[in-house]
Amino acid sequence: MAKCRVCGKEAEFKIKNYNLVICRECFLKRLYRRIEETIRKYRMFGRDEPICVPVQGYNALEVAEILGEMGYRIQVVGESEPIPQGGVVALGSLLEDEVANVILSILNWELKDDIFPVFQKGGTRFVKPLCLITEEEMDIFREIEGIEKRKGEENIIKRRMKERKLLSIGFWLSFYKSFLREHALLFEEGTRNSYFTK
Ligand SMILES: [Zn+2]
Repeated sequence: MAKCRVCGKEAEFKIKNYNLVICRECFLKRLYRRIEETIRKYRMFGRDEPICVPVQGYNALEVAEILGEMGYRIQVVGESEPIPQGGVVALGSLLEDEVANVILSILNWELKDDIFPVFQKGGTRFVKPLCLITEEEMDIFREIEGIEKRKGEENIIKRRMKERKLLSIGFWLSFYKSFLREHALLFEEGTRNSYFTK
């Protein structure tokens, strides 16, 4: 394989969506950096906050492994265990999941809080630190860590988009980012508990 575009050592993976040939070490660094940026940008949680990861959740192992590796305080909680009052729960939704959720919500004209990277529900803060990471990147991460992919539910929009290879990842990324930037325009001021209008 070709040389890593970042460090020049022998590359191991190709991220097709970004047309980037990369070695294992640089891939992981890049992944953690992007997730750190997402956590900060959407003010998900701080260094010292304990982060709960529900063991049955979508991409739960991956989220726990990544955040643990990044030095966050991870607490894997079983199905019957309660989430501490006022706690933070990390979900494993990826970019494709979030774009499909947004489109489906728009089609149904039902924009609920859970389409955002951070939302509150019953005193718990839910966060999606992987929301700007693509499925392809997560597949490479699983390969590196030897994690088996678990089948998750896919909404119909996501399935169709993938089947028909409708849009490029570049489009998905810019669609999602601009949606998050502009969505406040859809709502009257003050009706939303928005993280970026603060
Ligand atoms: Zn490299």
